Amino acid sequence: MSLLLAAAAAKAAAAPVVTKADVRKKQAAAASIETHRSELVALADQVWGFAETALREKRSAALLAEYAEKQGFRVERGLAGMPTAFVASYGAGAPVIAVLGEYDALPGLSQKATADKQPLAAGAAGHGCGHNLFGAASLGAATAIKELIAAGLLKGTVRFYGTPAEEAVGGKAYMARDGVFRDVDVALAWHPADRTRADMTGGQAIVDMLVEFKGRAAHAAVDPWNGRSAVDAVELFTHAVNLMREHVKPTVRMHYTITAGGDVPNVVPEVGRVWMWARDFDRAELDPVVERLKKAVQGAALAAGVEGSVKVQAGDLEILINETGARMLDANLRLFGPIRYTLEEEAFARALQKASGVEERGMDSAVVSLVGQEPEGGSTDVGDVSWVTPTLHVSVTTAPRGVPWHAWPVVASGGMSIGHKGLVLAAQTLAATMVDLFDDPAARAAVRAEFEKKTKGYVYRPYIPDGPPPVPKE
Ligand SMILES: [Zn+2]
Repeated sequence: MSLLLAAAAAKAAAAPVVTKADVRKKQAAAASIETHRSELVALADQVWGFAETALREKRSAALLAEYAEKQGFRVERGLAGMPTAFVASYGAGAPVIAVLGEYDALPGLSQKATADKQPLAAGAAGHGCGHNLFGAASLGAATAIKELIAAGLLKGTVRFYGTPAEEAVGGKAYMARDGVFRDVDVALAWHPADRTRADMTGGQAIVDMLVEFKGRAAHAAVDPWNGRSAVDAVELFTHAVNLMREHVKPTVRMHYTITAGGDVPNVVPEVGRVWMWARDFDRAELDPVVERLKKAVQGAALAAGVEGSVKVQAGDLEILINETGARMLDANLRLFGPIRYTLEEEAFARALQKASGVEERGMDSAVVSLVGQEPEGGSTDVGDVSWVTPTLHVSVTTAPRGVPWHAWPVVASGGMSIGHKGLVLAAQTLAATMVDLFDDPAARAAVRAEFEKKTKGYVYRPYIPDGPPPVPKE
């Protein structure tokens, strides 16, 4: 392709799609979100305060489900074996447009909404990924669409899916496996971020596995020849992993922790465990890496004279990007964004950046172009949904540019006005894009057609193990 042609193609790809949807309906949806703004912010702040971790999000799920019910949605609690999953629906018939929400927190990240590091409750969990905003914004978008359906301005069904445990086992994978999204025409999701864009890259597929070695205990000085050390196998296995890094594609990520490595030096360790995650941008690339890791487990066990086993505990697919949908999201981000910040918010952001040792450049909510987005690390169970129904994904600024994610600065900004502003833009963008999908059947069909084309001959196989999700016992 000539440079000129390439530039023209890039420009065409970047041009906002003007669907035939009525822009006044988008304005009405945005106005509804403004009307409900204080309620939505209160929901996000309460979930932020609960800071409940994966599959323990009882109060968070209950709060959002009750709000949905109060707004007139029909709510079904408990989906795919998870008490903290739910669906709220409004309207009847086709199309069925769904928006996903999350609300789980991360262990150990408790933090006040301040620009210096101060835990709210030492050792407790915190919303280091902004999921408190994620759930509330998506529910706000669904509520705005519900009002348009109630007013007779849109026809069909809107659903909000409350999806637990994104940070651990991936609740959406269980929901997708159980066919929860089977009749959904299009699903939408967003994620809090340090910048704003309609996503044209889909994160990484991930496999979460537990490697276990079982040896034989003996006195480490009296009769070590009677012992077989499980920790020897742990060392051999992790050494193999670290050598393997040289011989995998640069896009592969392998990280592990040693969760059992013996108790005392004078006992030959009987049990060794490695908790390992492997990722790549494409499942097709990742699967052979996982097979090699399994062989390394066997090799390590053989060399140490112990038994080795691997259990895949969880996993997500990469998000299948829908470019047609991304162009709609992009146009709507530009309709309602970028976010404007006060001087106080900019100062708060720079203080967080200073404390994190990153460039003090303040907030960045400029809408990033659809063209030239680089693949980024990280995984999400939205990926699984995207392979069973067309899924549109957008990132919205809720934290200062460049601060570490899954860390206290994200908890801090997600509990104050910076996060709240992101919530509002996310809700408005999602709602306006739902208006596109409801109001313009051709736009909806184009999203669907792209999905059908990309998944032709594809059979969805989740990474999660058979059986119910590992819901903790009371
Ligand atoms: Zn997240």
